[in-house]
Amino acid sequence: MALNTELEIYDFIIIGGGILGMSTAWQLQKRYPNKTVLVLEKEASAARHQTGRNSGVIHAGVYYKPGSLKARFCKEGNIATKAFCREHDIAFDECGKLLVATDQAELQRMQGLISRCAENEIEIEVLDQEMLKEREPNISGLGAIFVPSTGIVNYRQIAECMGRLVEGLGGKIVFGTAVTGIEEFADRMTVYTQGKRFHGRYLVACAGLQSDNIVNMMGLEPDFNIIPFRGEYFLLGSQHNNIVNHLIYPIPDPELPFLGVHLTRMIDGTVTVGPNAVLAFKREGYRKTDFSFKDSFNMLTYPGMIKLLCRHFKASMTELKNSLSKSGYLKLVQKYCSSIELNDLQEYPAGIRAQAVKKNGDIVDDFLFMKTSRALVVCNAPSPAATSAIPIGAHIVEKISELVTD
Ligand SMILES: Cc1cc2nc3c(=O)[nH]c(=O)nc-3n(C[C@H](O)[C@H](O)[C@H](O)COP(=O)(O)OP(=O)(O)OC[C@H]3O[C@@H](n4cnc5c(N)ncnc54)[C@H](O)[C@@H]3O)c2cc1C
Repeated sequence: MALNTELEIYDFIIIGGGILGMSTAWQLQKRYPNKTVLVLEKEASAARHQTGRNSGVIHAGVYYKPGSLKARFCKEGNIATKAFCREHDIAFDECGKLLVATDQAELQRMQGLISRCAENEIEIEVLDQEMLKEREPNISGLGAIFVPSTGIVNYRQIAECMGRLVEGLGGKIVFGTAVTGIEEFADRMTVYTQGKRFHGRYLVACAGLQSDNIVNMMGLEPDFNIIPFRGEYFLLGSQHNNIVNHLIYPIPDPELPFLGVHLTRMIDGTVTVGPNAVLAFKREGYRKTDFSFKDSFNMLTYPGMIKLLCRHFKASMTELKNSLSKSGYLKLVQKYCSSIELNDLQEYPAGIRAQAVKKNGDIVDDFLFMKTSRALVVCNAPSPAATSAIPIGAHIVEKISELVTD
């Protein structure tokens, strides 16, 4: 690596200015007020990728495998996120959510979710058809689970607020600076960017869609690849802002890793429909037509991708068909909300999920971290990682503090 570049020295360097990078930086700087913290973010401002392009739901923790990091951090994060919003004057709404069963098969699957809520100690109310109609006159189903602790928020505002807290405590955030190389030495990490080198005693990477590339930069071979799944939304016209009182979710298909197209009240008062889950051919390309030869080549030649596609071929094709046909997409939401029509669906920005997939085609379900002597990389942090950002940050600080010698 070229050494004739300007050098800056820090105690902790964090790659990524999404909600996980900002949460980690804030909690590290609080824990170590006399040490120096630097956040490097390639975009011009915080939360330009997953954190700023999601559903804004503060999840309760209904779905996750008992004992998993997702189950634990989501439940803790639900409480911590609301407390953070109260303390820092960020708008949120504990509006609750309904998981609606629309046929006998879903009603049966709903029983599994009821048991899971009991295992995860999530407070719920089970509604029959009439109770559902009373609570949500525009929604039809055979029954539903009501989860009162689910809420909504704008996660970009939380990430930006955490960034201000980092700076208030003396930390530094540098935007517009992409990390292009990383070297680990016995006494430090060296991080390369265009024209500048940074030495950090320790490094944390919260790079979302680029997490496998970060592992590669460190000279290691990741045992997973990030597969990008675009989540496409529509916005309902403002005449529908009061169409639902709560968030409305389908009963998810246990075979698929995503939650299904839902009706989401947003914190700005609007209502969105979505997201679906379509393979994206560019990691940070948000339009349907965006294409990167490098990203597509890497994805389509990855053995895990082929196995994943074979396993979920039918579901992938259905998602693709519904992405290309607005009326196909509409049918998904009409299953539980028949009054929504084609011309109610207006354009809305998409998001792209970073999903780690193993070589054998298994989707990495839980949050995943990788640690070396001086670095910790967040490898897999899909939903509900925004909800879980505060406990994930605390977890990372604990793991890093095990490495700190003075
Ligand atoms: C469509 C969709 C809906 C979702 N809905 C929800 C929800 O309702 N509730 C919930 O809890 N979660 C939800 N999620 C998940 C949640 O948004 C993510 O889990 C969370 O935002 C991850 O945060 P992050 O900081 O790891 O990633 P990101 O927000 O993607 O941030 C990573 C950052 O790293 C930067 N970076 C990458 N490489 C480099 C480099 N080389 N140099 C410098 N910077 C770099 C990127 O520019 C980016 O800013 C959703 C996600 C999507 C996509």
